[in-house]
Amino acid sequence: MAIWIKNPLAILAENAGNGIVIKGDKIAELVKAGDKPKGQYQKLETFDASDLVLIPGLINTHHHFYQTLTRACPPALNKPLFPWLKALYPIWARLTPQMIKSSSKLALAELLLSGCTTAADHHYLFPAQLQDAIDHQVEAAKELSIRTVLTRGSMSLGEDDGGLPPQSTVQEEQTILDDSLRLIKDYHDPDDGSMVQLALAPCSPFSVSENLMRESSKLAREHNVRTHTHLAETHDETDFCLKMFGMRPLDYLEHVGWMNDKTWLAHGIHFDDNEIARLGNAKVGICHCPSSNMVLSSGICRTLELKKAGSPVGLGVDGSASNDGSNLIQEVRQAMMIGRLRYEADEMTHLEALSFATKGSAQCLGRGDIGEIKVGAEADLALFALDEARFSGAGDPMAALVLCGAHKAEHVMIKGEWRVKNGEIPELDMNELMREHKSLAHQLYHS
Ligand code: ZN
Repeated sequence: MAIWIKNPLAILAENAGNGIVIKGDKIAELVKAGDKPKGQYQKLETFDASDLVLIPGLINTHHHFYQTLTRACPPALNKPLFPWLKALYPIWARLTPQMIKSSSKLALAELLLSGCTTAADHHYLFPAQLQDAIDHQVEAAKELSIRTVLTRGSMSLGEDDGGLPPQSTVQEEQTILDDSLRLIKDYHDPDDGSMVQLALAPCSPFSVSENLMRESSKLAREHNVRTHTHLAETHDETDFCLKMFGMRPLDYLEHVGWMNDKTWLAHGIHFDDNEIARLGNAKVGICHCPSSNMVLSSGICRTLELKKAGSPVGLGVDGSASNDGSNLIQEVRQAMMIGRLRYEADEMTHLEALSFATKGSAQCLGRGDIGEIKVGAEADLALFALDEARFSGAGDPMAALVLCGAHKAEHVMIKGEWRVKNGEIPELDMNELMREHKSLAHQLYHS
């Protein structure tokens, strides 16, 4: 069975004016304007896309799913990163397995409805009751059939040793490394088309010991998985690194053996010109998180300089305690808007912003099989209807998607299967999921 997604209103691909053909789980053919499919198909179904904008499925490269339980959290409101974290750590320490499962499912559903087909998550909280957090996330992702890159996060530097998180939220290094290895063996599928991949993600310079940074990178190299961490997010972090390690965050990253093309960093804001050149040279990926950077007053990522230097630049909604939503198409708009405060309007175009969430994000995750509409790529697609008042009168449909503020996909395909139809996820009772999720959030605040 093949499907010709015919005559889209606009498509984010060259030479595909009359759409694309999906065969099985792959993109089989691009059809030029005025042409018909040329391939031989036993049965070719036609899907009329004449009122839809077609783009590659969006890819989110940084999130903390559990934070959907602490959106707009009163003790953390209107605070910058360090005080914000200190307000939230004690709440997060009370997370239960049921909360992880429910929050992961809700975050994934939210992303999916916004046109996201691959989601990376950074989970770094493993209190005693939550040793199987990643296992629960794998389960949630399987239930929604969304592609994931789950990172086994970690914290090992508690307050007693000069770190930021309370001692009760950190783990022993060996426990972390043993569990990382177990998860890689149990879940990491390195192949093209993979639905679940693992990466190792010590949380940040101010919550992880130097030794764990080195050992995590070593373990990741041995098993050919990627490494991820928060870096250069705030001036507080730079001050912490200077005081604790006697060097700036990027020098520290290099010092612990992380400057390579298997690493992608969340935020990457406070780099100087020399540091950007070094990052680009090493092809370290950067996940730009515009909303979070605005909410926490962290600063503006130098996306275009990083990209020019050679770093892949992807996009992330970041956790829902600092966004506080998981809407990836809205994040594309945020990236364009914040970018225009730093760059000329003709430099930070709507297409540039879309490229962060598609090809750039795929590169951050080391994936050549997703993020682009091209022959042989995975059939991961997002289609948007421009049928709301906000789009009425728009001239360029692709620009309208970003400029008019699209916020929900009409249809989403992952691996050749429709995962969103007419703005809904088939077989998911969203109201029931929200009822459960809301009650768990209430329980978390008041436990
Ligand atoms: Zn984060």
